[in-house]
Amino acid sequence: MAGVWIFSERYEQLLELLNAGRRLARSMGTKLSAMSQLDPEKAATLFSHGADAVLVLPPLSENPSLDAFIPVIVAEVRKEDPDVFLLSATLRGRELAARIAARLNTGLCGNCIALEIDRDDGALRMERLVYGGAGLQAVTCSSRPAMASIPPGTFEPAPADGEGKGVVRTLPAPPPSAVQIIERKTKTSRGTDIAEARVVIGVGRGFEKEEDLHLAGELAEALGGEIGCTRPISAELHWLPEEVCIGLSGLQVKPDLYVGLGISGQIQHATGIRSSKWICAVNKDENAPIFAVADFGIVGDLYDVIPKLIAALKN
Ligand SMILES: Cc1cc2nc3c(=O)[nH]c(=O)nc-3n(C[C@H](O)[C@H](O)[C@H](O)COP(=O)(O)OP(=O)(O)OC[C@H]3O[C@@H](n4cnc5c(N)ncnc54)[C@H](O)[C@@H]3O)c2cc1C
Repeated sequence: MAGVWIFSERYEQLLELLNAGRRLARSMGTKLSAMSQLDPEKAATLFSHGADAVLVLPPLSENPSLDAFIPVIVAEVRKEDPDVFLLSATLRGRELAARIAARLNTGLCGNCIALEIDRDDGALRMERLVYGGAGLQAVTCSSRPAMASIPPGTFEPAPADGEGKGVVRTLPAPPPSAVQIIERKTKTSRGTDIAEARVVIGVGRGFEKEEDLHLAGELAEALGGEIGCTRPISAELHWLPEEVCIGLSGLQVKPDLYVGLGISGQIQHATGIRSSKWICAVNKDENAPIFAVADFGIVGDLYDVIPKLIAALKN
């Protein structure tokens, strides 16, 4: 079953990978297989989005960690020998992709943003951002399968325009994992994932104190948005969790509206917001680089501007 394989632990990202995967599969004249952790009924809906085959990882009661499936996925890839294997570059997906590629002794293009089959030699050409988004690196993988991890939001979800028929095959249960879960703690959720939010409010070092972040929270509430931040806010000041850091070493966001508050707009941050439809920035320095990527800029003190924006929105 050579062909193009995709894997994500999340349904939305499976649809995005199906979009990328089916274009590749068509140009290679091959099949597209989707691997997932979904229940078989939900997994079967992937056929109408372009999957030719669906492989399901069995539910595990004892150790539901994705790690446990690495030997199963690797064995399946060795047996079926796909040409291409795409995974979503979520936090878990990135780690999984690297560990699978290492076991298969093949190449992996991490955070790949574009991929196509070369018409001349049939090789998979991939692209990824380098030097903080200042450069584009072209990558060709000479081993099998050519692997890539693709950031969420890079491709639109595949529409449901297929026949919707196919066979769902459940993969074998994994052997006992070396990773033992000792304790579980519920993570406090911040609501919607900012990678999928339609409005994102970005918080930067222009805020003087953690207590002042309520201003960003009120603006987010008025706009129906979620809060993200620059790296210093999460990694140095620890005012917000790492999972909402936007940029090169964080998330790529793709909202309809991104509002950067007190953010200088260095390339490492700007690279994470470039796919936003509209970018608005508030900064007291008229020469701040964020204004070069913004569609709307407000030069002013965020402590003056944000209350006025909130009042205007409430009116
Ligand atoms: C390898 C590497 C990876 C990195 N990855 C990331 C990443 O993924 N994401 C990321 O964000 N950064 C990343 N960085 C850090 C990045 O280079 C910048 O240092 C960071 O983005 C700057 O954050 P900032 O804009 O909050 O702070 P600053 O650069 O300090 O900017 C603060 C801004 O606030 C403005 N300001 C101050 N007071 C006010 C006020 N009262 N009202 C309005 N404006 C005000 C200032 O004019 C200034 O422009 C990375 C760096 C490296 C080296």
